[in-house]
Amino acid sequence: MSSLEPFCPDCGAEIGRPHGEGCAIACCLYDGGRRLNCECRQRTDLDLDHACGQDDWTGQWPGEAEAEEFGWWVFWDGPGPEQGWDHCGQGWVRVTAGTPGAIPDLDRLRTDAEWDRKALRWVKR
Ligand SMILES: [Zn+2]
Ligand SMILES: [Zn+2]
Repeated sequence: MSSLEPFCPDCGAEIGRPHGEGCAIACCLYDGGRRLNCECRQRTDLDLDHACGQDDWTGQWPGEAEAEEFGWWVFWDGPGPEQGWDHCGQGWVRVTAGTPGAIPDLDRLRTDAEWDRKALRWVKR
């Protein structure tokens, strides 16, 4: 489990408090994507009271808890301060939990999971 951030890095909301309007980290509670510039706002077939909803800062980036739970981690194998800027690696590599330097694989949520808008979380496909 990664440590919790007491405040949203973008809007400064405390854990358990809603993100501010225009926060780039807040996720849409309807489709699980980013709330900023979310398509819901342009759609007319949705109940506007529920479009996007009010996401709270949880202490983690949206999707991190689910990626950790599913054991989906990636490690950057490429140019960088750790391995050297001329290191030519494989790019993002899927690794197991506990690998040093691994971060939760949030991109994989979009391919191997789907947003459950009742539970307000990602579930495996
Ligand atoms: Zn925020
Ligand atoms: Zn939305």
